[in-house]
Amino acid sequence: SNLTYKYPRVLLKISGEALQGKQGFGVDPSVLNHVAEEIAEAHRSGLQLAVVVGGGNYFRGATAPKGMDRAQADYVGMLATVMNALLLQGALENLGIESRVQTAIEMREVAEPYIRRRAIRHLEERRVVIFGAGTGNPFFTTDTAAALRAAEMNANVFMKATKVDGVYDCDPMKNRNAKKYEKLSYRQVCIESLKVMDETAITLCKENDIPVLVFNVMERGNVVRAALGHNVGTVVDG
Ligand code: UDP
Repeated sequence: SNLTYKYPRVLLKISGEALQGKQGFGVDPSVLNHVAEEIAEAHRSGLQLAVVVGGGNYFRGATAPKGMDRAQADYVGMLATVMNALLLQGALENLGIESRVQTAIEMREVAEPYIRRRAIRHLEERRVVIFGAGTGNPFFTTDTAAALRAAEMNANVFMKATKVDGVYDCDPMKNRNAKKYEKLSYRQVCIESLKVMDETAITLCKENDIPVLVFNVMERGNVVRAALGHNVGTVVDG
């Protein structure tokens, strides 16, 4: 059934902010469950899914308390992503989907350490793999971690799950004439600073020819549609 997919192996990035829903903090159980259902549906229809979760709903290094050492704050941010990873695993388990969490910072009591070849094996064995703790390094973002894992997993696409249905030329919440891009080049994203994701992440995708798809994860069926190559948001490539 993999053959019908344009992108049979998907790296799905879910930000902490998406998981927090309308709450200002933490995880909204209904959003978490929705995301898990989307992943479950995609998994059941034959897609191989590796997921990278952010942690911004709990803690961000960049907005840490004033005076706090940046690297120290970033480690807290990475630990925050592990909470989301475990919550997502729990939600997937409730739906009968087998998954493994692998963390870039070892915490063997709750997750496997990140081992590239083992992660690939999990995908081949039809387990969803959830990556926590970002890259394991401060001064990076989970978008960069996701781009890195996408390259390492030989993923066919980097899907950036958001709350909006693509990339706009200005904020669609504030400007009713905002125009959505169907397609963008990696260069355009950087030059026009369209805030799709940070430049380190974009560069990694560009250098490894991994298309980036920005789409609304709250709309049911979008992960599967996107993997089939349907136009569900904005594609960044070329
Ligand atoms: N972080 C880091 N290195 C990484 C990934 C994440 O230091 O490789 C830290 C960083 O402080 C970041 C926080 O973890 O602010 C949470 O990740 P991010 O802000 O990317 O989460 P998202 O915006 O996706 O919720």
